[in-house]
Amino acid sequence: MTQNQVEPVNKTSVTLLGLGAMGTALARAWLAAGHPLTVWNRTPARAEAVAAEGARVADSAATAVAANTLIVVCLLDDASVDEALAGADLTGRDLVNLTTTTPAQARARAEWARERGARYLDGGIMAVPPMIGVPEAGGYVFYSGSRELFEEHHETLGVPAGTVHVGDDAGFAALHDVALLSAMYGMFAGAAHAFALIRKENIDPASLAPLLADWLVAMAPSVHQTAEQLRSGDYTKGVVSNLAMQTAGTPTFLNTAEEQGVSPELLAPYFELMHRRLAEGSGEEDLTGVVDLLVR
Ligand code: NDP
Repeated sequence: MTQNQVEPVNKTSVTLLGLGAMGTALARAWLAAGHPLTVWNRTPARAEAVAAEGARVADSAATAVAANTLIVVCLLDDASVDEALAGADLTGRDLVNLTTTTPAQARARAEWARERGARYLDGGIMAVPPMIGVPEAGGYVFYSGSRELFEEHHETLGVPAGTVHVGDDAGFAALHDVALLSAMYGMFAGAAHAFALIRKENIDPASLAPLLADWLVAMAPSVHQTAEQLRSGDYTKGVVSNLAMQTAGTPTFLNTAEEQGVSPELLAPYFELMHRRLAEGSGEEDLTGVVDLLVR
């Protein structure tokens, strides 16, 4: 080796099961970063593209698992993980499951892995495939479960996207993932209602869109106040627009929907919860009490 040559850094070898849209993006990120990669996919043809980029293709999931210590799984659902890993020997393996599941499924999978002699880390991917391997896109993965596994493989796991470990409880990554996505669907529901309101008018949806996006961004930081109130138990702390005032305004929203010929079915359930909380004598509070009405 000459003076100018940099000594090659040993990159951790990775086994990846699943080459769907997300698995393929993960594979490309590790290959681009120089990690030796063994892949397996139920439908072999889907492995051809990454094989051409340097991945070694295993002819079964069990062979792929035998090839390396670090095993990353990114399959459709929990049942497909069961099916794919049925014949694999997981003894001494570090299993990282990026398949979307419920928290209970993640906890059961952690126990399942432990019984088979593997360390387990669950992951929830907060990114879409084009964001993988593109740090500036801001995508990241929630991880939970074995902190030792996470710390040992932190660098490798950080190649496709950012990493956030949210607890030793294996279910917490899925829980954080679903919590954020649930809030996102609430936002989509609100936006759908807003577009429906202008649908029959001579208003270009493209002129509403930037106003809507800016408004949602301006409102988003209110979650910090909600969190503070939940922590302190005082839902009147820092209230700007109290529940009584906001509930009094709900007929305007429902009547406007009626006038515009728009179904209130997305908006009405939230208003009903506001009314229930108000009926409990919480008019001076923020909207935070709705959280407690939801928890069974
Ligand atoms: P795809 O539908 O593109 O791929 C699904 C993968 O699962 C394929 O590799 C498929 O194999 C495999 N599969 C399905 N059923 C079985 C089975 N019974 N046995 C073995 N393999 C099976 O999904 P994605 O790659 O997009 O998603 C993978 C995971 O990543 C999901 O849990 C998803 O929720 C999560 N995710 C995806 C995001 C996205 O935007 N795409 C965003 C965040 C998370 P085959 O090719 O043979 O069908």
